[in-house]
Amino acid sequence: MANEVWKHFEENEITHSAAHYLMTINTLLAEHGYARVTDIAKHLNITRGSCSISLRPLKRRGLVVEDENKFLQLSEEGRRLAELVERNDELLEILFRDVLGVSDEQAEIDACKIEHLLSIETSVRLANFIHLIQSNSKVVRAFIKALEESQLQCLHEAARCDLCQHICFFEGEGETAKHPDERT
Ligand SMILES: [Zn+2]
Ligand SMILES: [Zn+2]
Repeated sequence: MANEVWKHFEENEITHSAAHYLMTINTLLAEHGYARVTDIAKHLNITRGSCSISLRPLKRRGLVVEDENKFLQLSEEGRRLAELVERNDELLEILFRDVLGVSDEQAEIDACKIEHLLSIETSVRLANFIHLIQSNSKVVRAFIKALEESQLQCLHEAARCDLCQHICFFEGEGETAKHPDERT
């Protein structure tokens, strides 16, 4: 079963683009109390035309609702999805940055890419984990310290390297590639 998942990857509940439309509408509604196509287009830095086209399937699915004055609202399901993806983004960013030690920028990028793909089950488990991490208790501080102190370093020889295992991940990436041991 699990090894068949990749075949259905494109059948995720919402696409990444749809997730960002829903989150944008949710943000605009919270900040201004209304959301029109113009506002969404401006917020996402796209044209009105392509914004309208992208909103069509969301309206068809009943996630976005337009009233007679062309003001957009989210249905309960639309809002649920928007808030779930937003929460996932926040949790993933904290996990990558504060627990794993990924740089701010990369943590933000990777969280954005995955945010819409988590199941509720994983999202809830992740929320529990981050909740514990943010308690900053003695055991959490000890754990973070132990993790920092046990970072693997690439040996540039895959057979002996615990990071790469079969082929070196870092060779041929040019000078921009950052090795774990160069992390600041
Ligand atoms: Zn994203
Ligand atoms: Zn290596």
